[in-house]
Amino acid sequence: MAIKKIVLIDFNKVEFKTSEAPYIRKEDLKIINSDKNILITDISCKDKSYTITLASEINIKCLSFLVYKNVSYKILYSKLYEAESFNKKYAYSGSLGCEYSKHSSTFKLWTPAALSVKLLLYKKCSLESLKPDFIYDMHETSGVFNIKIGGDLSGLFYRYEVNVYGNINLAVDPYAKAVGINGILGFITDIEKTSPEDFKNDTLSWNKSFTDAVIYELSVRDFTMDKNCFSKYPGKFLGLTEKNLKTSEGLSAGLDHLIELGITHVQLMPVFDFSYTSTDERNPVKYNWGYDPQNLNAIEGSYSTDPYDPINRIYEFKELIMAFHNSKIFVNMDVVFNHIFSEKDNNFEKIFPGYYFRIDETGKYTKSSGCQNDTASEHIMMKKFIIDTVLYFVKEYHIDGFRFDLMGLHDTDTMNELRKELNNLKKGIMLYGEGWDFKSNLPENKKASIKNSSSMPTIGHFNDAFRDTIRGSVFIKNDKGFVNGKEGLENKLKNVCAGSIKYSKEMSGLFNSPSESINYFSCHDNNLLWDKLYLSNSSDSEDNRKKMHKLCFAIMFLSQGIPFISEGDEFLRTKKLDSNSFTAPDSENQIYWNLKHKNHDVFQYVKSLIDFRKNHPAFRMKSAEDIIKNLKFIESPKGSIAFELTNHANGDTFKDILVIFNANKNKISLKPASYEWKNVKELNPSKIESSQIEIDPISCSVFYR
Ligand code: CA
Repeated sequence: MAIKKIVLIDFNKVEFKTSEAPYIRKEDLKIINSDKNILITDISCKDKSYTITLASEINIKCLSFLVYKNVSYKILYSKLYEAESFNKKYAYSGSLGCEYSKHSSTFKLWTPAALSVKLLLYKKCSLESLKPDFIYDMHETSGVFNIKIGGDLSGLFYRYEVNVYGNINLAVDPYAKAVGINGILGFITDIEKTSPEDFKNDTLSWNKSFTDAVIYELSVRDFTMDKNCFSKYPGKFLGLTEKNLKTSEGLSAGLDHLIELGITHVQLMPVFDFSYTSTDERNPVKYNWGYDPQNLNAIEGSYSTDPYDPINRIYEFKELIMAFHNSKIFVNMDVVFNHIFSEKDNNFEKIFPGYYFRIDETGKYTKSSGCQNDTASEHIMMKKFIIDTVLYFVKEYHIDGFRFDLMGLHDTDTMNELRKELNNLKKGIMLYGEGWDFKSNLPENKKASIKNSSSMPTIGHFNDAFRDTIRGSVFIKNDKGFVNGKEGLENKLKNVCAGSIKYSKEMSGLFNSPSESINYFSCHDNNLLWDKLYLSNSSDSEDNRKKMHKLCFAIMFLSQGIPFISEGDEFLRTKKLDSNSFTAPDSENQIYWNLKHKNHDVFQYVKSLIDFRKNHPAFRMKSAEDIIKNLKFIESPKGSIAFELTNHANGDTFKDILVIFNANKNKISLKPASYEWKNVKELNPSKIESSQIEIDPISCSVFYR
C-alpha cells in the first residue's frame, strides 16, 4: 500500500493519504524529526486521508520523516507556510536587508529554517576567486538573523553563508540594493550617494486619470543599438538620456522620438539585475530580454557603462529616469516576481528551501509560468518581498508604474495590498499586468487574473480580447481579426471599443472600469503587428496591410481604456517573423531607425491619433457609467462599426463625435440622422464634406458637431 502526499499542516499535525483504505493504527507509524521520535497522540482517518496529532511541535530547522512498515517518507513543510500558526510565530514586518549608516551597518535575513547564518564581507568582487575578508556569526530572533557591525562599511561587498537542512549555501541578500559584477555579491553603500545632482528635486507625479496615459514599451538595449541613431552609448541607460539624436535622414530618434510621438509613459522591459547566464555583464554580446530575475532590488549591469562599479548602474539608471521626467515622460518598470530562473540555484532557495516557491503535494516545484519555478506570493514573506521591492523603486528611483509579468500567477490579496500601499505612498502610480489564467494551487477566486478583475479595483490587465478581436489570435499564425478580414466580429469589436466594460446585457464585461483595460495589439511577446499581418494576410497587397496596420492604431487610440504601443510599431517594425525573439541577436531585436523615414506616413498618422486623443477627453472616459451614458453605437454596414460620443463626453469641447471603423476592402457610406457632421481634418485630411458620409476602404473616419 502506498503512502503519499505527506504534509505538515500545523507544527503538530501531519496529514497523508493512502491509495487504499486499510486501518492504520498509530502504533504502526513513527514520526522522526531531528533524529528524534515524536510521540503520536492521535490518528484519525476520513476516506483515504489521515491526520496525525503529535505530542510536541516539529522543529522546522530539521527535516522530518514518517516511517511506516520500515519505509521512510519525507514530510513536506510547504503547507505549514500557509498556516496561521506559522505566520504568528515567524512572520516579520520590519525592514530586511542591509541598513547602512556612516557609523554602523545592520544586516537582517529572514530564514526560520536555518540553523545558523554567517555574514561574509569582501573587499573585492571578483569572478575568478571569492574569499571573504571578514566573517561574522549572526544571531537569530524568531527567524530573523541579524548583526550590527560598527564602522563605515561602505565599499565592501557581502553575502550570507546559510546552514540549512544539511547544506552550507552561499546566497546574495534578496534585499541587496546594489550588487557587484554579474550580481554575484551584494554591495554596501550609502544609497544617498548614488543619485545624480538634483535627483531629490525630481518630483514629477501623475495627477490625471490612468485612462489619460499612453504607454510605450521599449527595451533599453533595442532602442539605441542601431548605428543610424548615432548614440554615444548604444544599448545603455545613458543612450536613452541623449537629446538631439537624429537619424541620417534628419529625423528624431531615441528620447526625442518619444517626445515627438507624444506618449506619456514608457514601460521599460527588465532593468532589474537579471541572470548572468542570460547576459554576461562583462561582455554583453549575448542578447536577452531579461525575464530571468536574479537580484530584484538591484539594477542590471549590462546597461551601465561600468558594470564592475556597483554605483555606476544605479547612477546611470537614475540619469535615465531624470531625462524622461525632465521631458514629462513617466517611467513604468516591468517587474518579474512570478518565477526565478533556476530551481535550486537561486538566492531564495538557498536561504529558505521551499518557502518562496509553490510546491505540489508530491514535492515537485510547480512551473506554470513556463519559465521555471512559480513563486508563492500567497506566503506572507514573499508577499512582503514583492511589496517592499515595489515601494523601494517608487521611493528610491521615482518609478511611476509597474507592469507585472504573468500577474495571474500571483494572488489577489498581494496585488490589492500593494495597490493600497502604493496609494498611501504616492498618487498616480500605475499598476497593471498580465492577468492570464494559470494553473496554480491558488483557489480560483484568488488568482490575480482577468476573470477576478472585479475584486482588484484600479489594477489594469493586458486585454487579450482587444488584441485578438482586432488582429486575430497570437497563437494561430493565419488567424485574422476585424481589421484583416474576419467576418462577424462587429459585436466583439464594439465591446472592446467600449473599454470591455459591461456596456450592455450582451457584452461580456471584463472590467468594472476602463482604467483596468490595457488596450494593445502587440508587445514584446509573439509576432509584432506588421509581421502578424504578413503571416495572416500574405495575399493582400502591402498597401492594404499598411491600411490594416493604421486601422489597428485608430481603433486603439479611439477606444476607451489605456492604449499601449510596442516599440517601433508606429513605423512598421519587423522582427523577421520571429514570434519569440528573447535571445535573438541585436540585428533582429534592435530598432532600425531608417524605418521611421521609410514609413513616415504611418508614424505621422499614429502621432496625429495620439494628439487627437490627448485633445479629446471623450476618448478617455474614467468610468463605466460615463461610457454607458455617452457612447452610442449606430447602425453601419457589415465589416464596419460606428459610434457616437455624445454630450461633451468627459468635458470634451466637441458636443458629439462620430467614429467609423471600416474593415471592408470597399468604400461604405453612412446616412447619419443629422447632416451637421464636420470632418476632423487632423485624421481625415483628404475627406470632402457632404450630406452622405463615405468611408474609404480599410480606414477610420472621425467627425464632430
Ligand atoms: Ca545581471
